[in-house]
Amino acid sequence: MKIAVMGAMIEEITPLLDKFKEYKVVEFAQNQFYTLKYKNIDVTIAYSKIGKVNAALTASILINRFGAEKLLFSGVAGAIDKNLHIGDLIAAEGLVQHDLDITVFGHPYGFVPESKILIKADEKLLKIAREIAKTLNLTLKSGIIATGDQFICNGLKKEWIRKTFNANAIEMEGASVAFVCEALGVPFFILRAISDAADAKAGFDFDEFLQSSSKISADFILSMLDKIEE
Ligand code: SAH
Repeated sequence: MKIAVMGAMIEEITPLLDKFKEYKVVEFAQNQFYTLKYKNIDVTIAYSKIGKVNAALTASILINRFGAEKLLFSGVAGAIDKNLHIGDLIAAEGLVQHDLDITVFGHPYGFVPESKILIKADEKLLKIAREIAKTLNLTLKSGIIATGDQFICNGLKKEWIRKTFNANAIEMEGASVAFVCEALGVPFFILRAISDAADAKAGFDFDEFLQSSSKISADFILSMLDKIEE
């Protein structure tokens, strides 16, 4: 089985590389791809760089060039839901692009013709994640993740995204990865640990909690690799 694990920033995949220690580095498309064997799984790890375009490019490469049959995303996000606190885990049930706007033509926010607003994550991977959370006695929340090419650090903007998309958390890559995976028929799972509350102090919180939250997410993804392999 070939599985891709991706993040957006180096900090998000460092806990995984630290754990595996031995891997091969393959250069492609001005990026590095870390390949290794874990039990029976051919794992390719990469970080895309921030944003939807970078994330879509990396997800396509992981699938088309490295043959990923499943894609797991690990990273951090801002909380929209008041019940999500720094360090909490949220798995995407569905993902939307909050910054996609051709509403002047009568379309809803997040929609372009011949596409859809919400892309659903793979049910089987979500089920595995919920089982793991139960076994490890961890709380894994799930809901809608809103993606856009903006770092949200403003209460009004955050409230607009919550109301418009019923979103629980916000980040800058998930939906683009979801679109690529769905189009190419690859089951995906997008996990985020909260780094900030997308409010006025989000910039400070992000810097403070990027590493610890990245590790929380990466550790969970490692447990998923064990379970998927079983
Ligand atoms: N400090 C970084 C920029 C971080 S951008 C630098 O200077 O390079 C934020 C990253 O974390 C993105 O990859 C995004 O997916 C996620 N993220 C965390 N909190 C977010 C928020 N409040 N709004 C949008 N994205 C957020």
